[in-house]
Amino acid sequence: MSMSQALNNNKPWSDYSDLIERIQFDRESGHIWLDESQMLLLDATVFSDMRKVMVETLGMNGARSVLSRIGYLGGYKLCDLSRKMHPDKPDSEAFVIGPQLTMITGMAAVNLLKLDMDIEAGTFYGEFEILSSYESDSFIKEFGHSDDPVCWHLVGFASGYSSRFMGKEIIYREVECRATHDDHRCVIIGKPAEEWDDYQSDAEYFGPLNIREEMLDLQDRIAGLKQRINETDTDSASNCGTVGCSERFKHAWQMMEKAAESQVTVLILGETGVGKEMFARGLHRCSDRSDKPFVAINCAAIPSTLIEAELFGVEAEAYTGANNSRPGHFERADGGTLFLDEVGELSLEAQSSLLRVLQESEVVRVGGAEVRKIDTRLVAATNEDLEKAVAEGRFRADLYYRLNIYPVTIPPLRERVEDIPLLADHFLTKYSAQYGKRVKGISDKAMLMLNYHQWPGNVRELENMIERGVILVDNGASISVPHLFASSDVPPAAAAREKNRERQQKIARSISSEDWANDLVESGIGMEEIETTLINKAMTKANGNVARAARLLGLSRPALAYRLKRGSGGGEAD
Ligand SMILES: [Zn+2]
Repeated sequence: MSMSQALNNNKPWSDYSDLIERIQFDRESGHIWLDESQMLLLDATVFSDMRKVMVETLGMNGARSVLSRIGYLGGYKLCDLSRKMHPDKPDSEAFVIGPQLTMITGMAAVNLLKLDMDIEAGTFYGEFEILSSYESDSFIKEFGHSDDPVCWHLVGFASGYSSRFMGKEIIYREVECRATHDDHRCVIIGKPAEEWDDYQSDAEYFGPLNIREEMLDLQDRIAGLKQRINETDTDSASNCGTVGCSERFKHAWQMMEKAAESQVTVLILGETGVGKEMFARGLHRCSDRSDKPFVAINCAAIPSTLIEAELFGVEAEAYTGANNSRPGHFERADGGTLFLDEVGELSLEAQSSLLRVLQESEVVRVGGAEVRKIDTRLVAATNEDLEKAVAEGRFRADLYYRLNIYPVTIPPLRERVEDIPLLADHFLTKYSAQYGKRVKGISDKAMLMLNYHQWPGNVRELENMIERGVILVDNGASISVPHLFASSDVPPAAAAREKNRERQQKIARSISSEDWANDLVESGIGMEEIETTLINKAMTKANGNVARAARLLGLSRPALAYRLKRGSGGGEAD
């Protein structure tokens, strides 16, 4: 039978009582049945939350893949009902089960705009208006408006259902979505796959042929990302989340660790973007306040008229617009740590209030009289020369001295280039997980370029650059120079600088060997004891394997075996 037909009535499926009759609740087993399919009744907000978790853990594309597939499989499976319930009806009338299913499963209401199909000829064109889509509602609620359509589950469902119905691959796309900035409704259009330009890109989300493989692939990706995230956590646990291996970095971090043991007010100095907040968080996590709140405030981001209310709280009707009393950041951070970034931006009035709080350990809310005791450790930060600000009368000298008890300077990134690979890798792991991408790594040339860059924006600039790289790179590929930099030319001075660096590193190494040699000589430990200790250490590291231990010591295997024999007075281990 061949037929081609466009329906006029835009709700040919508003009566679906026969479908509802097939829903049964089995009181014995607790099962819910739709005809012969077992169904679940899920709380929509739970599903929304799940969606949010998916977006956060798998990235937008990962979440879209999972939800499109869930929809596709559901539509594909439930399509059987159309033939079962309407065996003798024309195709376009039997098709109504699909839109009816989206309604009884609570996905959305559907209006018909256009439907034209012929199973024998293999032609299909469906255009539907989707009303009150739960997906667009939940998306807006969780994430605000989107740049792209978000009704993935529904589009998957329509594609699965129509593909099964037509016996060929029908792909839907959402051409308008209420969750985007511009559209006021959702509209989906379905056509045979080959009629879409680049339909392969849709197959990535719900291609029926390789669903199993893709699902397995996805599982691998999730497992891999989880592991990498865990590794990152453990790696950084030793220095509480801050990343670096250079001497300058270590020195700054040791200063922070020492401060963490006391309650001293810390002033973090450094250029914009060096990671002052990261250091403050690290200090908080290492301190005995770690289970209490860490509150971070950027003083430059709050209008000067509101800063006092923000910091110290406000009592109702202190000024027009304040209807409710609320605590300030000092109170919110009670027991924990308050991080005040760009403290040099505070108005003179706010400065004197801050000084009072620091001196008395108590706050009075704006417009209030009650004195509240607080126990908040302050970590302040600035990229400004506060001494100069004091000289110019913009910053109170007494507050400066109160803050400057324990200053720690975070070096700019260009002065600790050794940290760049470590930081780049850290951000790569972070953003691969966030965007649900498999990124092989950073190409050697790109890494070289990162080392030579001057980093005026410091760690933040590096982080932004890596995030952009992760967005631009194709799945499974390495981030290369064009993903990071506009121009792919390595600066001409690069090679010379690399040589210079190697030389400096050599000098640094020789200085340090001179240091430990001095220490050893002065300690009075004998040669033999040194040799035995070294050999024992290498053998432990090599799990008793003589050949491996010899490699670690830069000796041949026989040479080490000889020394071992001599040391133990006979016998040879391997
Ligand atoms: Zn939509």
